[in-house]
Formats: sequence, structure tokens, C-alpha cells
Amino acid sequence: MDWLTNINWHDGFTNGKFLWIDWHFWKVIGWLGNLVFFSRIYVQWYATEKRKQVVVPVGFWWLSLMGTLLLLSYGLFYTHDSVYIFSYAFAWIPYVRNLIIHQRHEDAHLDCPGCGKSCPPLANFCGACGVRVAPAKT
Ligand SMILES: [Zn+2]
Repeated sequence: MDWLTNINWHDGFTNGKFLWIDWHFWKVIGWLGNLVFFSRIYVQWYATEKRKQVVVPVGFWWLSLMGTLLLLSYGLFYTHDSVYIFSYAFAWIPYVRNLIIHQRHEDAHLDCPGCGKSCPPLANFCGACGVRVAPAKT
């Protein structure tokens, strides 16, 4: 436990520092990016535990995208580190694509004429009231 007694606890909160960090605009952007990017895993885990099935909620893709953009701007405008920039330079592509596919799927939902509930695109009958939502195939 030497490392614990060797930490100068006072230094972490003096000379304009908070938690040993010299805060300025880009530190806020970078740490906000860390927080947003890190939180996505817990959002996904929560959704999976709730459904008792592995799911990826749309919030996961939004948090991934926002976190990536914040961390990419931190890399581009503050650290200028090629390894760091490359880590986030292309990650946004699958996030945006997942969001587009999610939106198209949402738009393709059919509103039940009986109860108004939104039904999946390929549903023939409403899962809530049983009314036919798709035109009968002839
Ligand atoms: Zn219905």
C-alpha cells in the first residue's frame, strides 16, 4: 500500500487542479468524451439485463457517436497524437449507419387501425389487439 501513502492528496486539489487534472476547455471536452463513451456499455448492459436477452439499444449508438466525436476532436485539436486520432477517425461510420437503419426500421412500422399501437414492419396482425395491420394477401 506504499502507492497510497505516497500520493500527495493535497496536490490534487491545489494550483487550479481538481482530481490532479489541470482543467481547461479541451480537458473538459476530453473527459466528457470519456464519460459519454464509457457510459454506452452500461446503457447496453442495462438493456440486456432488462430484456434477459442481448440487445443493443439505439442509445448505445447515440452515445458511441457523441463520445467518438468528442474524443476525436480532443485528439485532433489538443493532443495531435496520430494513434489517438486514428482510434476514433473511422469509428463513427458504423454508428451513423446503425442509426440510419434504426430510423428506417422505425419509419417502416405500421400503426394499428384498431388500437393505434406501432407494429413491426412485417407484422400481419397487431400484437396488442389482434386487428389486421397489413393488407390481406390475395
Ligand atoms: Zn392493435
